[in-house]
Amino acid sequence: MLIGIDDTDSPEGMCTTYLGAVLAKRLVGEGMGVSESRLIRLNPNVRYKTRGNAAICLEVHGDMKRAFALACRTVEELACFAAAETNPGIVITERKPQSDFYHKAVKDFCTLGEALAVLEETGAVFRGYKNQRGLIGATAAVCSDLPDFTYELLAYRKPEVWGTRRIVNRDSLFLAERTTYPHTWDTVDPGQGIAVCVPHTPDPVLFGIRGERPGWISYARECVLSEKPGIEHMYITNQGTDAHLQSGRIGELREGRSYMLGGMVTGPVETGRGGHISVTIGDNENTVRCMAYEPTKGFREIIRQLREGDLVVVAGSFKGGSINLEKIGVVAVAPDRYSRPPVCPACNRRMTSAGSGKGFKCRRCGGRAREAEVGERPRGILPGWFEVTPSARRHLAKPLCRGEPDAAILGCQPSSVIQ
Ligand code: ATP
Repeated sequence: MLIGIDDTDSPEGMCTTYLGAVLAKRLVGEGMGVSESRLIRLNPNVRYKTRGNAAICLEVHGDMKRAFALACRTVEELACFAAAETNPGIVITERKPQSDFYHKAVKDFCTLGEALAVLEETGAVFRGYKNQRGLIGATAAVCSDLPDFTYELLAYRKPEVWGTRRIVNRDSLFLAERTTYPHTWDTVDPGQGIAVCVPHTPDPVLFGIRGERPGWISYARECVLSEKPGIEHMYITNQGTDAHLQSGRIGELREGRSYMLGGMVTGPVETGRGGHISVTIGDNENTVRCMAYEPTKGFREIIRQLREGDLVVVAGSFKGGSINLEKIGVVAVAPDRYSRPPVCPACNRRMTSAGSGKGFKCRRCGGRAREAEVGERPRGILPGWFEVTPSARRHLAKPLCRGEPDAAILGCQPSSVIQ
């Protein structure tokens, strides 16, 4: 059977992945088998989310009634019911529903009615608390299908120290990264010299190690020195897979959805207040502004080097009328041409304009020339993919160390968009 759970935490504490880890342990303790734990990230632009819009799904072998009762007891014991925005949902089903609802929940917005229709059609048993919104994420989790996947090992703090300062040896995290990157990633942000895998929120997570396969993650985990965790749990996950991205056309983008799309830079890059960078791209008809915010750090240096005429593929969420860049593929750079007065062959000094349409003249010897000197300056940027710094990466964004995106898979071919 599959058990899906969502919406158990609040900004003040708890985490649905922790609840999933505790439930998995209790199910095993009651003689049931847990063959897979899934950590599913859903549309990162959902406004009800507490932090990372996560839901969990456990694949369980045993008595369904007992498993459901234990899941309900665990949620009732651990979820932050007092928080207004915490509306837990629990789903249990022997039959895996179609994955359509999951794909909609990770790329788009769903209603409770749509989730209930899936649950009824599947014959699932479910319980929604308060306004029942958690049933959306819980249903998406049991519907999830992972054509691409990664893993995350989560270490959780003992309840008696929740809310106090986390003790994790910083150097050991850098060692873990050095030893296992690119098979693991985002343990630290080497460029900025900071730990990324240790949260600063009051939830039970001590640290999380993300990677391609459990073996590499375990290797990295062995490097980490910290306070003694309460429990640790390995999840298979859609994190780091770009599951949220869809193809799109400029001019037809919808708020709160995430896209990969091609375009041509249509004007100069602008630096706004707070160090946020914006650049506009367009196709033959429409334009859209793309933002690289200050926390994306060195990524902004790449964006600053773009010039009008550069052909790019961008990936990110469309919010407030702009695409918030997660990564960018520079497909072709426009030549940076210049034109200036020629050098006088007699005096070896640069000529000056002789007036509009009259060519150039040498101020020293009076020599004349008709043609300007034209040339191309080397561009500081070459075609390739570039991404935000690890500390600014979204959970679902696929890091380039896992491979560069194949924009064509999403039907995104900038050269066919721009004639
Ligand atoms: P936690 O990690 O503990 O689950 P969170 O950041 O994941 O916290 P939630 O507290 O789960 O956030 O809140 C997200 C809420 O939004 C849930 O009720 C979930 O069912 C709902 N939700 C998730 N995805 C969608 C979607 N695509 N459309 C509509 N509602 C969604």
